[in-house]
Amino acid sequence: RSRSYVIYFTHENMTNKKILVINCGSSSLKYQLFLMPEGLNLIKGIIEKIGAKDSFIKQEIKDGKKFEKKTEIKDHKAAFKQVVQAILDKEYGLLSSIDEINAVGHRVVHGGEKYSASVVIDKTVINDIEECSDLAPLHNPPNIEGIKSAMETFPNAIHTATFDTSFHQTLPEYAYMYALPYELYEKFKIRRYGFHGTSHRYVMSKALDFCKRAKENTNLITCHLGNGCSITSIAAGRSIDTSMGLTPLEGLIMGTRSGDLDPAIIGYLVDKGYEIKDIINILNKKSGMLGISGVSNDLRDIEKGAKEGNKRCQIAIDAFAYRVKKYIGSYCAVMVKCDILVFTGGIGENSVVMRERICKNLQSIGIHLDPDRNKLVGNHLGVVSTDFSRVTILVVPTNEEERIARDSYDLA
Ligand code: AMP
Repeated sequence: RSRSYVIYFTHENMTNKKILVINCGSSSLKYQLFLMPEGLNLIKGIIEKIGAKDSFIKQEIKDGKKFEKKTEIKDHKAAFKQVVQAILDKEYGLLSSIDEINAVGHRVVHGGEKYSASVVIDKTVINDIEECSDLAPLHNPPNIEGIKSAMETFPNAIHTATFDTSFHQTLPEYAYMYALPYELYEKFKIRRYGFHGTSHRYVMSKALDFCKRAKENTNLITCHLGNGCSITSIAAGRSIDTSMGLTPLEGLIMGTRSGDLDPAIIGYLVDKGYEIKDIINILNKKSGMLGISGVSNDLRDIEKGAKEGNKRCQIAIDAFAYRVKKYIGSYCAVMVKCDILVFTGGIGENSVVMRERICKNLQSIGIHLDPDRNKLVGNHLGVVSTDFSRVTILVVPTNEEERIARDSYDLA
């Protein structure tokens, strides 16, 4: 009797919870409200140009009602005031009190070596995130500012943090250690951390559910190909290698980021008169698909350019696909066998041609793409491999916010 009572009581307490997911950048604040445990998205909003005169807020609720307001928003605290007004707005909002929000899930970029899972935020967690700011100077400080402002704005909610790095904390030492003097790891914690962890974890779960497979006996390679790109190999539900490193600059060719290169290039450019800060700026903002093509960081523009005969656009596409292909090959080599290959992110979900290029001539490692399925899948969850392909190839739309909401709900 007592057990059934507990189950009943728990169930009562855990339904119809509203979770607000926050993603704070230096000048932007993205927010989404979820109804849990269904994972139903109720509200989606964004504030941009925080700190500028022409800041604005845009919000859409689940019945499609949209509103947009231009107003000067000087800092994150002021931004949260706008969020509250928008959520409570009689015509364009959905809630009648902010106390209806049970938990707030914050996206945090860097959790260092301390966090291998999402956590409830307290003073220690805030201090730890502050300590990791050295490793993510552009991301962690605005994340902390967002957390502090949100805690003041929603004092009765539980606040949780989900880290981009935490899924990759299972990497073995030989996969995360750079071949540098060991004291650089000891002194400065220089090692591979990996990013996009929330996305890789989300698509892994969706892929396992879809294929009706248990994580314990399944190996996956997940390719998150968007403006930022990373690829992860997963065995028994644990990330065992990933392409991004100490920072999100390493690995695949991205929209504007170089990915892997010979580190000696940096010294060579210094000798040619470049300053380090300019080189870092080039590697992050002027390289990748934009750097090679000279046209755009957006694959759609580059595909158009290539069709019109622009040679550099064609090289950018070929180089992008070639790098992903090489990583898939190397990740197959570090697993006993790969069972599922997942494509996600703006490019992975939408570009039929890029998936085709990447999978071309990978039959020797069991990857057989079905050209018709690849065209027909749209940007929905579905199989794009042939029936006889040893590796099941899937397109899985990612949803990092839903994953954060689920973590926050579980913790709350
Ligand atoms: P994300 O960062 O995941 O939002 O991905 C953004 C990128 O996805 C864009 O920069 C485009 O390069 C790419 N993308 C989105 N839709 C398409 C499409 N239909 N075809 C090719 N690339 C696309």
